[in-house]
Amino acid sequence: MTSLGARAEFPALEQKINGHSLVYLDSAATALKPKAVIEAISHFYAYEAANVHRGAHALGDSATEKFEDVRASVARLIQAKDATEIVFTKGTTESINLVVQSWGRRFLRAGDVVILTEMEHHANIVPWQNLADEIGFHIRWIPVTDAGELDLQAYQNQLDEKVKMVSLTFASNSLGTVNEVEKFISAAKSMGAKTLIDAAQVMTIRNVDVQKLNCDFLAFSAHKLYGPFGVGVLYGRGEILSEMPPYQCGGAMIAEVTKEKTTFLLPPQLFEAGTPNISGVIAFGHAIQFIRDISAEKISKHEQELTARLLEKLKEFSFVRVIGDSPSRVNIVSFVVDRVHPSDIGQLLNQQGVAVRTGHHCTQPLMKRFGVTGTVRVSLGVYNNEGDIEELIRALKKAWEILV
Ligand code: PMP
Repeated sequence: MTSLGARAEFPALEQKINGHSLVYLDSAATALKPKAVIEAISHFYAYEAANVHRGAHALGDSATEKFEDVRASVARLIQAKDATEIVFTKGTTESINLVVQSWGRRFLRAGDVVILTEMEHHANIVPWQNLADEIGFHIRWIPVTDAGELDLQAYQNQLDEKVKMVSLTFASNSLGTVNEVEKFISAAKSMGAKTLIDAAQVMTIRNVDVQKLNCDFLAFSAHKLYGPFGVGVLYGRGEILSEMPPYQCGGAMIAEVTKEKTTFLLPPQLFEAGTPNISGVIAFGHAIQFIRDISAEKISKHEQELTARLLEKLKEFSFVRVIGDSPSRVNIVSFVVDRVHPSDIGQLLNQQGVAVRTGHHCTQPLMKRFGVTGTVRVSLGVYNNEGDIEELIRALKKAWEILV
């Protein structure tokens, strides 16, 4: 089994939790931060803190240059045609809200249809529902099969000329299923609908190419990519961003303001009102470099191997039921334990130093689809190894013995 030799880069792993070495299995909620990212933030605050896009002095110029370099680096990461197609937000949630509030308000009308899926994170449901209540468009749902996959045929049957947007996740944050988004995008295109891809859970392990995907929007968060909190990306196809009105208004996005009227800058500045998370964006550049240095292919291989081992081990427990068995999956496994509430399992694992997530994972419609209120979710990162899986299995067995 591969080892990425990355553990030493993560100071968080040096600590003990409840007397045990930390076994961190919650990377889908947020990935631990490598030294390079932590040091970039503290270096910026110590020596470089200045506002961007305001000119006039050396520190401001340097911060602006570094900030814009990261925009170019994100554009390369996802193969965007141009860096102006990259908007910095505070996370996937804000990126989706930006599309809903700006594109949605401008282009959606009563009677139109937006297609979502049963496996969406609430961040890709609630903003659409809220606007639907106001405007009167309808939401159609792509169903999820027993295997935890999207039903492509049912989706194709739902497509008609009323559909203006198809917004779906690349990978389920609860089940780990990776969707064949290319097929969903091309079918949407053939009906003239726009597409938004929630890529929050795939960026570390996939080489995402927005031009090949041919999506109109793509959203993700830096903090799931070994980067800082409070930084996200919205990719928007240039022609579409240029037709969208501002999402928030204020400084840094205007050309001229008079008492009578305001003229605006072009995207991406049009969508970045106010002072952004400058240290966060710069540190995000270091996170991207960290992933590049290891390589997405190697990370993917490592996490696939560990996930396969985890699934194999879980199968040995008759009291465990894994939810979703798609062969196409990311580094995420969800399961329930007979007669035991997921949060009780979570607590007993935590007592043994093992960090997992329990609950509905902000996907309540999906939980309902599988007839559960929540699951135990294990998610893996570059720092995990076979020993972590063994620790989890040992701790889970102990938890079961205590509870039943
Ligand atoms: N979509 C998916 C698929 C996610 O996993 C998450 C985070 N759990 C989000 C959206 C929201 O991301 P954030 O909280 O970073 O805005």
